Amino acid sequence: MSEHGHPRRGLTDIELKVRALEAILTEKGLVDPRALDAIVEQYETRIGPRNGAAVVARAWTDSAYKARLMSDATAAIAELGYRGLQGENMVVVENTATVHNLVVCTLCSCYPWPVLGLPPVWYKSAPYRSRAVIDPRGVLKEFGIDLSVTTDVRVWDSNAELRYMVLPMRPRGTEGLGAEKLAALVTRDGMIGTASV
Ligand code: FE
Repeated sequence: MSEHGHPRRGLTDIELKVRALEAILTEKGLVDPRALDAIVEQYETRIGPRNGAAVVARAWTDSAYKARLMSDATAAIAELGYRGLQGENMVVVENTATVHNLVVCTLCSCYPWPVLGLPPVWYKSAPYRSRAVIDPRGVLKEFGIDLSVTTDVRVWDSNAELRYMVLPMRPRGTEGLGAEKLAALVTRDGMIGTASV
């Protein structure tokens, strides 16, 4: 670990072991690398972020829960059973009509695993990590979010101590929907801040 509490650069011992195992298993014809990619993709985009989506939907439908989430996100998220590694200290930031939040880890790839699963490749990329801070509006535009000049853009730099999750704005016209249907609308990128919901 570095002095900032971030994992050191380069491959960790675990990553090296995983790569070695993957290479050997592939060489022996025991696994198909595409099948492994598909599993990772599942965790990145589907299984992991469903937890965060449940948190968001609960906050949209239960104002007392939302108040708890905004004051102590770690405890409120744990109420729904989501806790553990890389989610020990959670902070939730709320998008409003005038504020848009964007989450990044400028040093590496800190990410709230219990609510979002594994970080996507672009989140770990050097261009996203540097440009999200220097030019957040430009980055958001590339993700298809064109913010008005009056919108206040806030960038949150995740680190070993704190992990951020965005509470997106509840979409218009969803007043009649229950928590389950609302959760289905919430995307991973919506909770990173690179998409609206
Ligand atoms: Fe990091």
